[in-house]
Amino acid sequence: MEQTKIEIQQGDITKLDVDAIVNAANSSLLGGGGVDGAIHRAGGPAILAECKKIVARQGSCPTGEAVITTGGKLPARYVIHTVGPVWHGGEQDEPQQLANCYRNSLRIATEKQLKSIAFPNISTGVYGYPKEKAAKVAVQAVNDFIRDNDTSLRQVIFVCFDAENLRLYEKILKG
Ligand code: ADP
Repeated sequence: MEQTKIEIQQGDITKLDVDAIVNAANSSLLGGGGVDGAIHRAGGPAILAECKKIVARQGSCPTGEAVITTGGKLPARYVIHTVGPVWHGGEQDEPQQLANCYRNSLRIATEKQLKSIAFPNISTGVYGYPKEKAAKVAVQAVNDFIRDNDTSLRQVIFVCFDAENLRLYEKILKG
């Protein structure tokens, strides 16, 4: 079986020329701040138009689930929107829900036969998930998916926006 490489990059996920970038959306799928706002700003109105159609068809997106739209004007072909958990102290299923975000995004990318995907540090902004805990869940979920599934993906990139996340991912992936 061909290998899937896991990489780390620091920077703005909207600039990446990959098959899909993942958006840390909220369940309304109508856009918000942080990476969500940056993706809609850079990708243009086609992304929001598709999100609205999805919500009209199937309702809002539950935490841990994911949906796919066009990348609009982005270099990426697709945006996979996933809804991370809000951190409430860790006893309300947050780790499982965060793992589901990664798993469901990778599943959708695999169903579309995509080769490359980039993730932001889901839930570690306004949703308040502690960064080290979130990074461990993210790396574990991606490793588990790659081990357990025959995936088209050859490249999975963790895009770290801040230096602290970059340091954590380097530590976890190399340790
Ligand atoms: P959440 O609501 O899931 O916490 P945020 O967008 O507030 O979502 O934050 C998620 C992560 O995305 C944070 O680590 C934040 O620093 C990061 N981020 C914000 N803008 C960008 C961007 N343009 N590219 C990559 N990551 C970003």
